Amino acid sequence: MTQSFQLLLFGLMAAAGNLLGGWLVSRSPETDRGRLKYILGFGAGFMLAAVVLEMIPESFEQAGGGATAIWLLAGYLIIQLFEHTIAPHFHFGEETHTEEMHRHGVAVTAVVALAIHAFFDGVTIASGLLVNLRLGLLLFLAVLIHKVPEGFTVASIMMSAGKTGRTAITATLLISIATLAGIFCVVIVERALIVALPLSAGATLYIAASDLIPEINREGGWKASLSIFAGVALFYLTHLLLHAIGG
Ligand SMILES: [Zn+2]
Ligand SMILES: [Zn+2]
Repeated sequence: MTQSFQLLLFGLMAAAGNLLGGWLVSRSPETDRGRLKYILGFGAGFMLAAVVLEMIPESFEQAGGGATAIWLLAGYLIIQLFEHTIAPHFHFGEETHTEEMHRHGVAVTAVVALAIHAFFDGVTIASGLLVNLRLGLLLFLAVLIHKVPEGFTVASIMMSAGKTGRTAITATLLISIATLAGIFCVVIVERALIVALPLSAGATLYIAASDLIPEINREGGWKASLSIFAGVALFYLTHLLLHAIGG
């Protein structure tokens, strides 16, 4: 399997995850919030472990201390800027603030914010895969787990803004394309890898620890909280397994 084929395959699967989430919402607006909470928690734990156990150590190895620290912080702040400064109303999961979403532009900025976030999902996948297949596979899985809830989020923002199911799917498609664009950009500027890995580590840290985990905590419940630990455990097992097969 060549590297460009792997990039394409991972990218298309992540994009398909977005579309699946969007399709589920547009098909039946009465969604199952309960189950979504566990997927979010599971994905958050997996991503958090990926950042701490793989992305940060690998960045230090590739780029050294000073540069890694700066780009890590920059990646974190980029997501804060786009998701919560430029688009002040944004949160993961089902959108229930229908009145706010009807205000002009709120839904659109939320979708644009999520597209920028999805772009970094693509950067994450590609920068992992360009280091080696093992890292690429782990980061692909970390991204994939939250792609269905992500598609779900976009579509439910559009539905709460009173848009049709078709518009909701179109918005989801935009998010999928943004993911592919992120992959494409890293491939084009392959030399930027030294920056891309710590930058996407910072972005992933934000998504896991500042977007997903607070959303789970807001809903409360020990079972949802436990799903974060389950995500970390699964990452650790996958990590061990991939090392054992030799990567
Ligand atoms: Zn809301
Ligand atoms: Zn994402």
